[in-house]
This record gives sequence, C-alpha cells and structure tokens, in this order.
Amino acid sequence: MSKKYKTYNIHCGKCGEYVLTYHKHGAGKGILRLYFSNIYSPEKLIKELKAGFSKIKEAPNLLCPECEELLGVPAISKGQEWVYRMRQGYFHRKLQK
Ligand SMILES: [Zn+2]
Repeated sequence: MSKKYKTYNIHCGKCGEYVLTYHKHGAGKGILRLYFSNIYSPEKLIKELKAGFSKIKEAPNLLCPECEELLGVPAISKGQEWVYRMRQGYFHRKLQK
C-alpha cells in the first residue's frame, strides 16, 4: 500500500526533544515549511493552531517545548496556506517507516 505522504518526526536540533509529527506530501527531501494542516501531532500544538487566528501574525512561533529554541515562524505560502517557515539547521527530521 502506498501512502501519498511521508511521516517525519521533527526534533529540536539543540536539545533533541521531540517537537512534532508531520505528514509531508509531494516530492523533495527538504523541509522548508510545514503546512499547519499537515501537522499530525501533538494534540496540544494542533489545538493551538486551530484556535482560530484571523491573522498569521497571531499564530505562535514554533518553539522547542523543552529549551524554547525558535524552530519556525508563521508565514503565508504562495498558495495562501498557513505554514511555519522552518529555520534550516535548527531542527532534525527523522523519517518514520
Ligand atoms: Zn530544544
């Protein structure tokens, strides 16, 4: 069975803490941005993101839950979707199989 996405666990690059699970659609290996709608876990973060912001500036930054390293900032993609623009080099991703 083939899935249309790959599942990645994102960890803090500084302390190694688990941050979130992401369903990545499409080709390309890099994770430059995380679409809010494809963030799969944890529940707490998803609830925060669904809290109903009217402006992207009201959305929280993506921080490491342990050491509070800044990992991503909210932005709007070219397709008008809400995303986290990820700071390259500040996080690790692990492909879940
Ligand atoms: Zn950390």
